[in-house]
Amino acid sequence: MTEKIKPRIIVVGGGAAGLMAAGTAAKAGARVLLLEKMKQPGRKLAITGKGRCNLTNSAEISDSIAHFGSNGRFLRQAFHRFFNHDLIEFFAANGLKTVTERGGRVFPANGKAPEVVKALRSWLNKKDATVRLSSPVEELIVEDNQIVGVVAAGEKFSAAAVILATGGASYPLTGSTGDGYRLAESVDHNIIPIRPALVPLICTPAENSTSKKFDLGKLASLSLRNVAVRLLINNKKVREVFGELLFTEDGISGPAVLTLSGAAVDALKNQDEVCFSLDLKPALDEKKLEARLLRDLQSRGKESLDSLLRGMLPKEMVAFCLDINEISPQRQGHQVTAKERKRLRAWLKDCRLPISGHRPLAEAIITAGGIDTKEIDPKTMASCRIKNLFFAGELLNIQADTGGYNLQAAFSTGYLAGKAAARQISENL
Ligand SMILES: Cc1cc2nc3c(=O)[nH]c(=O)nc-3n(C[C@H](O)[C@H](O)[C@H](O)COP(=O)(O)OP(=O)(O)OC[C@H]3O[C@@H](n4cnc5c(N)ncnc54)[C@H](O)[C@@H]3O)c2cc1C
Repeated sequence: MTEKIKPRIIVVGGGAAGLMAAGTAAKAGARVLLLEKMKQPGRKLAITGKGRCNLTNSAEISDSIAHFGSNGRFLRQAFHRFFNHDLIEFFAANGLKTVTERGGRVFPANGKAPEVVKALRSWLNKKDATVRLSSPVEELIVEDNQIVGVVAAGEKFSAAAVILATGGASYPLTGSTGDGYRLAESVDHNIIPIRPALVPLICTPAENSTSKKFDLGKLASLSLRNVAVRLLINNKKVREVFGELLFTEDGISGPAVLTLSGAAVDALKNQDEVCFSLDLKPALDEKKLEARLLRDLQSRGKESLDSLLRGMLPKEMVAFCLDINEISPQRQGHQVTAKERKRLRAWLKDCRLPISGHRPLAEAIITAGGIDTKEIDPKTMASCRIKNLFFAGELLNIQADTGGYNLQAAFSTGYLAGKAAARQISENL
């Protein structure tokens, strides 16, 4: 007598979410086929965290959820089922030790993101999940409101359940080209418009009172640490973060800017006025800064401002500061008037950088928007529209700040989808 072939779960996409979903479903006893469109899985995962992979954060669940903004609550159940300590234990059990760094950021101890992919792949091998590469899924096959298979590279694959984990639409060379949105839309799922988040911003040249423009490109590659960065929308402060800012060829980036960029992108789309205000001396309040300026200008009265201000600012910023405040770099400390000192003090606490745009989605770390989570059961990641269809990872309408939260969300939703899909098909047997 021939043994009945077990029904199969197909996982579409071999990124963080898909690899975790496939391994979890296989571990739960399901027959699993992972279809990945690229020649290798985990291409994006392998370049995360500047090649070091900030795979999670040690923050508590409620703190982590707060980093996802208004839609963070959707993740509560997924995080309760599989969270940072589970992920750290999982990798330890699979030969990958981790370390926790500043801000609770967790990295592989060997500092190598590709090792994260390697650990996941060898786990999948051990669990007997089949991985088929160069297999782009082009179509979902649905009959009577139930998913029954997919078409990949022109070939039909039947399935008792499908987990869609195709990622977002940023860094398309890694394989994340937004296919999942089209596939989900084809089976009537609602898509919240996608847009870049964690993306560098473009500045208009800074102007002084006589409309002389300063070419910010001169500051390219300059990084400012320990500055307070405020996002102003229509001249109203909406959020402030403390950290690092990096000047680029045409604007600004760096962790503090990336954190605020999602809100800036949405405001630009609304045609609101967007501006960044930097507090370059956050450790000194106005009074202390005034005292410091007075002291320096008096005690080093014979020195040119060009050299004197270098005690307070990087060289490139000194040029920017003097240019925008219309003060000659050759002016000596004792020649600075009270009015000029006041102008300098005000600028050091509130250096304005008007924003005119953002870099394209292809350059964003994260795609905001995606599959509407209102149509997904947060306990299982199952579609509320199509039976036996599940979702996981960045293609969902979830997006977080930097710090390892996005990968934790991909792993947690992948875990939940894998578990739930395996349970669902065993119940249907
Ligand atoms: C440069 C960079 C650095 C980052 N660093 C960090 C970090 O340090 N920490 C952090 O938390 N987050 C980081 N992120 C974000 C994080 O990488 C993503 O949130 C995460 O990879 C999402 O996982 P995913 O599995 O949902 O999607 P992805 O990792 O994008 O994987 C999706 C997979 O699906 C495949 N696929 C797509 N379409 C199809 C199809 N039609 N058929 C078959 N397969 C398909 C793709 O080829 C890909 O392998 C970074 C992102 C970038 C771009």
